[in-house]
Amino acid sequence: MSDAKPVMDATCMDDFDPRSIAPDEALRRIRSAIEPVTDTERRAIRECIDRVLAEDIQSHADVPPAGNSAMDGYAIRGADIPETGARELRVIGTALAGRPLFAVLQPGTAVRIMTGAILPEGADTVVMQESVERTAEVIRIRPDIRPGDHVRMAGEDIHAGETVLETGHRLTPADIGLLASLGIGQIQVWRRPRVAYFSTGDELRSIGEPLAAGEIYDSNRYTLFGMLGRLGVDTLDLGVVRDRRDAVEAAVDSAAAYGDVVISSGGVSVGEADYVKETLEKVGKVEFWKVAMKPGRPLAFGRVGKAWFFGLPGNPVSVMVTFYQFVQPALRHLMGERGAPLPGVRVRCASRLKKRPGRVEYQRGVLAQDEAGELVVRKTGAQGSGILRSMSQANCFIVLPLESAGVEPGAMVEVQPFYGLV
Ligand code: AMP
Ligand code: MG
Repeated sequence: MSDAKPVMDATCMDDFDPRSIAPDEALRRIRSAIEPVTDTERRAIRECIDRVLAEDIQSHADVPPAGNSAMDGYAIRGADIPETGARELRVIGTALAGRPLFAVLQPGTAVRIMTGAILPEGADTVVMQESVERTAEVIRIRPDIRPGDHVRMAGEDIHAGETVLETGHRLTPADIGLLASLGIGQIQVWRRPRVAYFSTGDELRSIGEPLAAGEIYDSNRYTLFGMLGRLGVDTLDLGVVRDRRDAVEAAVDSAAAYGDVVISSGGVSVGEADYVKETLEKVGKVEFWKVAMKPGRPLAFGRVGKAWFFGLPGNPVSVMVTFYQFVQPALRHLMGERGAPLPGVRVRCASRLKKRPGRVEYQRGVLAQDEAGELVVRKTGAQGSGILRSMSQANCFIVLPLESAGVEPGAMVEVQPFYGLV
């Protein structure tokens, strides 16, 4: 593209391609191009894990609604705690969770109380049952108790009127538990984006079909199915599309008619049977198609009709890397999610990593603890973009910057752990 800003000075760049844009520039362009969805739906909270909130949630009441015990023991008055020696208190009854004792605690008395039971009037402290001696209806307490111990105050989790969750928040199991604790059963969420995807390639066969010479099984539709499924979007699998201009055009058309987003894999480079970019130029608009990254340099981003189009490379690792680096953030933005992604982590690298300057590399790594308990990362083995096992074995990406010319064992590198990212 003519407006592509050169990423680096070409003279020192072995792997440099002047038509490439840097990955962070690509991501910036994707984010600024895509407008989040505007339709919302009301849904039961159990259906909302990984959905994005389309309203601010305020609490109508204090949580917990009343002061209660955090322990099994005895509710007492802090003023009754002796300064020295021991003091005897008469036990006047029992308070259970959900079965309050409607009594007012007088000086010199105590109430047997269980975890979660409301504190009787006058009580402000709970003594653990292990710390008292009990004989018949009398307990002996000692000075080792502090007033206020083991009491959960009304509103200590949430105050009435407080905003507990904001628009744009992706809901976790903790969040739906929090909503339940407020008595909220339904919430407003953004609609799920629709994503249609297909593979291209004359060599691709589906599971169950025999393989002739030169043929391989299509794996990209399976990794895409998994990655899209985890994100919580609606999907349409359009199968394998043959390397013919008309077939690719027809697939792009029907995908764009279904989806907010279309994802293809393969056929996006400059080989003889690569019709994806050409089709995008013909029926839509290409925003950029080369990113200075490895794996995944040919990556077409553009628009067809109302849909956003991601033409991912064909190699199985490239598909996953470009998906996680670009398509996932794009979909999260489209789904209405706000908030910055988690930052990478800097750790020591135990392997020697080969690299040439000119592209950002996403090598596959295993993050583990060394004998001293420090985090270290090593590479998974061969890093070819077709070696899907490198992804299967990895638990992180090792991100090497554009200008890096390789890493010696012991150097610090940036990793993106797989856990916690989705
Ligand atoms: P392409 O980008 O179409 O030139 O494909 C690059 C490499 O990835 C070739 O070796 C293809 O055979 C392989 N490939 C493309 N699509 C798939 C797929 N869906 N599943 C597995 N391998 C693929
Ligand atoms: Mg191909």
